[in-house]
Amino acid sequence: MMPQHVVVVGNGIAGITAARFIRKLSSARITVISAETDHFYARTALMYLYMGHMRYKEVKPYQDHFWEKNAIDLVRGYATRIDTASKRVIMGGSRAIAYDALLIATGSQSNMFGWPGQDLDGVQGLYGIPDLVTMERWTEGIVRAVVVGGGLIGIEMAEMLHARHIPVTFLVREKGYMDYLLPEEESTLIGQEIRDHGIDLRLATELGSIQSDKQGRCRAVVTTGGDEISCQFVGLTVGVRPNVDLAKASGIETNRGVVVNEYFETSAADVYAAGDCAEFNRDGIGSRRVEQLWYTGRNHGKTVARTICGLRTAYDRGVFFNSAKFFTVEYQTYGDIQARRPASVRTILWQDPAARKLLRIDYAAQGGVVRGFNALGTRLRQDVCERWILQRAKVQTVLKQLRRAHFDEELGPRPYKQLIRAYKQSEMSHA
Ligand SMILES: Cc1cc2nc3c(=O)[nH]c(=O)nc-3n(C[C@H](O)[C@H](O)[C@H](O)COP(=O)(O)OP(=O)(O)OC[C@H]3O[C@@H](n4cnc5c(N)ncnc54)[C@H](O)[C@@H]3O)c2cc1C
Repeated sequence: MMPQHVVVVGNGIAGITAARFIRKLSSARITVISAETDHFYARTALMYLYMGHMRYKEVKPYQDHFWEKNAIDLVRGYATRIDTASKRVIMGGSRAIAYDALLIATGSQSNMFGWPGQDLDGVQGLYGIPDLVTMERWTEGIVRAVVVGGGLIGIEMAEMLHARHIPVTFLVREKGYMDYLLPEEESTLIGQEIRDHGIDLRLATELGSIQSDKQGRCRAVVTTGGDEISCQFVGLTVGVRPNVDLAKASGIETNRGVVVNEYFETSAADVYAAGDCAEFNRDGIGSRRVEQLWYTGRNHGKTVARTICGLRTAYDRGVFFNSAKFFTVEYQTYGDIQARRPASVRTILWQDPAARKLLRIDYAAQGGVVRGFNALGTRLRQDVCERWILQRAKVQTVLKQLRRAHFDEELGPRPYKQLIRAYKQSEMSHA
């Protein structure tokens, strides 16, 4: 049945996509509650605001009048609890908003692991606009910053600081940059790119504590190995976790995230959860139970909108992809490329480390079906790679047709020749 009033908590990509599609599918009253900003903005562009490459109005995908035009009510405030029995969202200040269907789209929160000194002035994570405001304040006129945690947000923070000519020491616990996700060659190439930008990258180095000055401001970090690094700003970018605060306070089942089935239905009737905060209750929907990406948030929002509007639709994860930029090097990944390949998977690689370019294809040892692609510093066409993976194309076919997916004129035939050679060598060595 079509709900009369849909309330969405969270105006990120998942919540806003859901609201937009509910509007396309129905004339229901829609209210979006957000604690962070009045309007939806692209969280992925946060770094460009600090670096001065974009202004706030440029990271808002829709103009401010869009919401009124589409009859989507925006409420600025923090939802503290959902009363699932009386179907009301309780806001701070004891205000309540009644709903017929409710979507929890509360996103993620920055991880903090209880380090001594993590609450000092000048120490922070990076997730939203409030973090940019404090970062602006804490990095004014400083001599050195330390960034802790070698994921995608960590490298963005290092680049942001670098753009303002602030020397950065980058502490990464792993032996290689993002080596839990990236195969060795990719990890080495990115590590080199980071160092070439003058970042003091320290691999296999863990944060021990953050030291305070007399005013309660960070003055240094000390590693578990005992090294002291003087700094006036510490970025703690050690991953994010689903924001389950609202669901937990409301007695809705949570685990790492808000537990949902493939229809984004939670343990409470007419309450759904989508985006970074949701956790699928079983494998089979995809290898990851929690999906914390921009495009997955959008896909969640689109799918849950249909279910909320009475067109119950299971989530189809499709072919995994991700893209990022590591300083000047673009990264794309499609399908399933694992940092540590099992024996059942073989790999072929072309790389030009000096030019920061790399192409990798992984395929099944038995039968040769292609499993995934990695590209660094050069681009692959998403539609072609996805089609090959979905159609279970064989590596020989992909190698013959690789130019359809790859269009880096500058490189000429070198990558293809090398990949074919690598394939022949790989097969011979396993014969
Ligand atoms: C710095 C940074 C860079 C990123 N770069 C990329 C990238 O390049 N590619 C990529 O795929 N992904 C990237 N991500 C991840 C991506 O941005 C997230 O996966 C996506 O934004 C999650 O969308 P969401 O709608 O689930 O939640 P969010 O965008 O987190 O939105 C949730 C909103 O809900 C609000 N909220 C929470 N609780 C309440 C409450 N109780 N009451 C009211 N409001 C509440 C929050 O304040 C927040 O505004 C990046 C993330 C960060 C932080």
